[in-house]
Amino acid sequence: MTTRQRERERRLCVVRRAWWHDKAANRWQHFQHWKAAGDRAHFWKRRHLARGEVKAAKVNEEQIAKLGPLVHKWEGKWREADHEVRRYSKRIDELTPKPPPVPSGEGWHVPIAAWNPYRRKVANWIVREIVAAKSRGARGVVNSGLRTYSEQKYLWELFKYHGGNVAAYPGTSNHEGYVYPRGAVDWSDPQSLHGHLPPGHKLKWAESVGFADWPHFSGTGH
Ligand SMILES: [Zn+2]
Repeated sequence: MTTRQRERERRLCVVRRAWWHDKAANRWQHFQHWKAAGDRAHFWKRRHLARGEVKAAKVNEEQIAKLGPLVHKWEGKWREADHEVRRYSKRIDELTPKPPPVPSGEGWHVPIAAWNPYRRKVANWIVREIVAAKSRGARGVVNSGLRTYSEQKYLWELFKYHGGNVAAYPGTSNHEGYVYPRGAVDWSDPQSLHGHLPPGHKLKWAESVGFADWPHFSGTGH
């Protein structure tokens, strides 16, 4: 099955699940309605019998006989819809593409994730911390990750001569390495990332070490 077919089937499943979910909610209401009516009939039958009102109890008996099949019918219909909801949920899970696993160990890669729209190269140890922070609710995206010497030189020249963003001298930036404590990222919402990093995180926000480079994160903060 191609990716496109999978996506098509997944969308169909989402629509069908919503349809069955609606049905299930509706049938549950019917089921509860008739069940409550049956319970009331049982209650009054017992009470009438306790009072020795046999005739009234007989009427309740007839009600119970009529309500029983209705309860049974709506419970069955509700269970059927509920089963369909679960079935489609399971299928949607199967068809939803899994995010690629975060590589363990050192090195770097290009994370395929919503938080990396510019497809930057990022050190693996930093990716692990970003994934954790994202799952804790961090907002923002990577603006800059691993750089080559010439990329760093270009940014430094922009900074030095053309009023560009803060950039270290080529050859000295943590953006040029990826083995901890080297490796760096610039993040669009640094306060949010800083606030959602997992306990024991190694990534330091420049601001938190008094280094004036607002979006910058690295092992040392520089
Ligand atoms: Zn930076």
